[in-house]
Amino acid sequence: MKLRSICNNFFIFLFVFSAPFILYQLSADSTDSIRYSVADSHLHFVDFLQETDGIDSLLCAMENAGVDHCMVNGLPLVKKWDAIDAIRPHYYLEDDARIYWYSATDVIVARAVLGLSESERTRIHPFLCGFNATDRNAIQHVKLMYEWYPDLWEGIGEIQTRHDDLTALTYGERARANHMALDPIYAFAAEHDLPVCVHSDISSVWVHEPLYLHEMEEAVKRHPDTRFVWAHAGISRRIVVPTLVQDLRCMLKTYPNLWIDISWVVYPMDIVPNDTPNKDWVALVEEFPDRFMVGTDTVGHFGKYKKDILSYYVFLDALTPKTARLVARDNFLNILPQRVRDRLE
Ligand SMILES: [Zn+2]
Repeated sequence: MKLRSICNNFFIFLFVFSAPFILYQLSADSTDSIRYSVADSHLHFVDFLQETDGIDSLLCAMENAGVDHCMVNGLPLVKKWDAIDAIRPHYYLEDDARIYWYSATDVIVARAVLGLSESERTRIHPFLCGFNATDRNAIQHVKLMYEWYPDLWEGIGEIQTRHDDLTALTYGERARANHMALDPIYAFAAEHDLPVCVHSDISSVWVHEPLYLHEMEEAVKRHPDTRFVWAHAGISRRIVVPTLVQDLRCMLKTYPNLWIDISWVVYPMDIVPNDTPNKDWVALVEEFPDRFMVGTDTVGHFGKYKKDILSYYVFLDALTPKTARLVARDNFLNILPQRVRDRLE
């Protein structure tokens, strides 16, 4: 009797104190605030330990955030847990432990996507990325994945090339967008109508000029039939290049096979500093309305996905409605293979 009374009191206590939280959750989960249909052009299904909240959780987050299409790739790098480190690191910057190339990431993505229903499947766009970008044998992995999972892959990337601390912590040769190991992969992409997403820092964290721009430029120039997406517009943590807008304008004018994703730190740092759209960026995107795309660069966990997606609204609102629709959704869908675009129509 006494136990039952304790339980009753406990549930009353639980209800009274959790009701505001439940109401908050319900409002956070409502789709009332959704004003744009978004295609997320840049999402990692796993984190730096190759762990994930799972595909159901991702689909739920997409639904809640008004995202009807999503690029999904793994992560070709994994953080090692060294004997000396008492705490298991989760993020690549969390401690000084090294990082190594991890090909099974593509299998993790493939297995998750192959388990989807047909209607769910049309919203998820898997890219393969699990190769060492400095290994001239990397093309063999691409071919193997293509053979193992025919008709699954819709793109290649995010290829991890020059990436500040991530590069410094990774074992072996430094990756770069114009590395000879990537030439056969770019050629394979052109041959199979696959877009390629490349992370290639435009500079180092110390030099405020486009120190490494030529690496991305050489890749794009050498492969005019390959559709390149330059991840984060070449920006990474602590990279500041005052000429960025002019550099991008020049690249976009010169190379029609180049697109830009505005995911990750470039968005709050350069595009909407202090939540205010930078007018030079607005002008640049309006000048090339079909060359930019929204992406979140979410890494394996989808708890704050809606917040991340909604953060792009302030920039989309600063564009003309036509450009906003292209940047939010259509530009990403338009670079996918023709066989995929045919299915979407
Ligand atoms: Zn990246």
